[in-house]
Amino acid sequence: MIDLKGKSAIVTGATRGIGLEIAKVLAENGAGVAILDIQLGDESSVKEVSALGVQCKGYACDVSNPETVEAVFKQVLADFGKIDILVNNAGITRDNLMIRMKQEDFDSVLNVNLRSAFICTKAIAQHFMRNRGGRIINMASINGIRTQAGQANYAASKAGIIGLTKSNAMELSARGITVNAIAPGFIKTAMTEKLPPEAIAKYKEAIPLKDLGNPRDVANAVAFLASDEAGYITGQVLGVDGGLGA
Ligand code: NAP
Repeated sequence: MIDLKGKSAIVTGATRGIGLEIAKVLAENGAGVAILDIQLGDESSVKEVSALGVQCKGYACDVSNPETVEAVFKQVLADFGKIDILVNNAGITRDNLMIRMKQEDFDSVLNVNLRSAFICTKAIAQHFMRNRGGRIINMASINGIRTQAGQANYAASKAGIIGLTKSNAMELSARGITVNAIAPGFIKTAMTEKLPPEAIAKYKEAIPLKDLGNPRDVANAVAFLASDEAGYITGQVLGVDGGLGA
């Protein structure tokens, strides 16, 4: 049984979509949650998670900016005392055919999806090493394993996340820290709502389980990887994709 009571987590990109669901599922299992997002808006995500009876606080943080991350993580540690789980979830898409893709759209996707995971991991690593434990869960994508036209930036960022996960797992395992990635397939969020209905129908047909996933499917996998039960799992990529990546 997953029990995260007494633990605290940082979840990036957590005001909506998969990140918010991760924050909620971690909270349902007893963990306190620091919600980091580029904009906190009306803090409804913080209210929703706090209502689950755990410590929850929101922090405006551009996770691709190392100075901001350094300052915010310092504040989070002061507020929570100890952090046990880091979920590098924030991500964006700027799809276009490579030939038409603007350099800034390539760079921003790499910055938010990949560079941020390096920055946030570095910002928490010493804390985890001192505590001789910690869980890092990086959000990859099926597109980092097998991809499609129009996603040179996104596919490169998510393939990069998988490499980063494996290398960091090797470096941090001696201190009892595990580093794993989750590779969702097509999940019902604002990111996939942008797709035309014909494309959604085509994906449903191709997915062995014949439907898109829900944010909760991904969040449940995160909660497992964050738990004591997953203590002997590191450097892995867990597909949550209805069988699409099989
Ligand atoms: P989403 O609904 O667009 O949520 C992403 C969140 O990240 C948003 O709140 C966004 O804020 C925030 N964010 C963007 N840039 C940021 C930055 N620089 N610093 C901090 N926060 C930032 O996306 P999602 O669908 O939940 O996806 C979450 C993760 O799962 C992403 O890494 C994505 O690549 C991955 N994924 C999703 C799917 C899917 O089917 N949805 C499939 C595979 C993988 P703004 O709204 O202000 O931009």
